[in-house]
Amino acid sequence: MLSRAEIVALVALLACFLPNNTRAETEQHPPQPTVLFENVRIFDGKNDSLSAASNVLVSGNTIEKISTDPISIDGAGNVTIIEGGGRTLMPGLIDAHWHAMLVRPNPAQALASDVGYLNLLAGSEATATLMRGFTTIRDMGGPSFALKRAIDEGILPGPRIYPSGAMITITGGHGDFRQLSDLPRTVGGALSRVEQIGGSMIADSPDEVRLRVREQLMQGASQIKLTAGGGVASPFSPLDVTTFTEAELRAAVEAAENWGTYVSTHAYTPASIQRSIAAGVMCIEHGHLMDEETAKLMAEKGIWLSTQPFLDDDGDAGARQLGPAEQAKMKQVIAGTDNVYRLAKKYHLKTAFGTDIIFSATEAQQQGSRLASLSRWFTPAEALVMATSTNAELLALSGLRNPYPGKLGVVEEGALADLLLVDGNPLENLDLVSDPTRNFRLIMKDGKIYKNTF
Ligand SMILES: [Zn+2]
Repeated sequence: MLSRAEIVALVALLACFLPNNTRAETEQHPPQPTVLFENVRIFDGKNDSLSAASNVLVSGNTIEKISTDPISIDGAGNVTIIEGGGRTLMPGLIDAHWHAMLVRPNPAQALASDVGYLNLLAGSEATATLMRGFTTIRDMGGPSFALKRAIDEGILPGPRIYPSGAMITITGGHGDFRQLSDLPRTVGGALSRVEQIGGSMIADSPDEVRLRVREQLMQGASQIKLTAGGGVASPFSPLDVTTFTEAELRAAVEAAENWGTYVSTHAYTPASIQRSIAAGVMCIEHGHLMDEETAKLMAEKGIWLSTQPFLDDDGDAGARQLGPAEQAKMKQVIAGTDNVYRLAKKYHLKTAFGTDIIFSATEAQQQGSRLASLSRWFTPAEALVMATSTNAELLALSGLRNPYPGKLGVVEEGALADLLLVDGNPLENLDLVSDPTRNFRLIMKDGKIYKNTF
């Protein structure tokens, strides 16, 4: 039994390890840094045309005022004035399917490296991601909690991260990266390497699913990711298989809903998508092999489609590092890209844009050109709306578990100040987003300027 004094001491000790939000709130804040953009034409994330020449005042991390009239600011304090010269001011881009921890390493490095090394690779990549104009990413699997924390604390530049934590899979499913020599697994026995580092977790019953889901939620997951069917980058899961039972999926949905958030599933096929929907899943990742009936069901139920333009001509360097069987699966998925966008348009599905680039630093540099490749199916405005305000709507599905409450993906008064100043008009030339180094003259996240060529 602890004495009262011991309990008090213990509580004080624990408090030292908790985030110091409350302490920060009581400290005196210096005056908010202010940035005034003059003479910019705004793509607001929603409309398909630019505004008239406008001025935009950012105060702290918020867009405070937008006006076609001059905005006066008192000279006191920390003010930066950007003469926009008629350039386009638009919301920071959002990638709705990203793996912050899996972009830089190759598959062997991802599985065998020290987690410290993986975090440093991911940190470097996170900075590169922000410098491509992606101010927010939705992380769909991987141990990105520490990276997110370091970025949020200002230790290194990077995007806002909506972490899923470990993706949850079944034995043999997409995300089980073990070798056959690792079998059989002793029930309750040691975890595989990828589970130890929180990359994926294997669960084979509703109870195990609940445990693993709750572990991700405890670490701060903003949504939960399960793999409901086979995948490309995992050697033992054929694309056609449906993995979790409905009861297992339902256990995840229940645990996530109890925590105020939702489940998204990796699913290519009609069977895996339909089972996900029956279990209460709110968002489908990929969907490339879906059919008309499934698309209709998604539309009826208002299920989100978070999909990616996997294309043949993208120089899929990441895929080239996979074995021949996985490359064959990749081809099948690529062949479904036109199918999924055609159905998304036909049934007006709520469609988010993501890239799902993994295992390749060079391919990561094509993050913007993946967005530009949507021009095969969409107008520049449709593609840009998708990668900004629509993606932000999907992020908001995290409800009370949203790590960045506030409006993202739009340029409007009161929204969070994640902004790009672009040379040219991306609503006329979507290819501008393919070359961020050249065309994004200024990058701001949370009111802070990370790139400024003026
Ligand atoms: Zn993925």
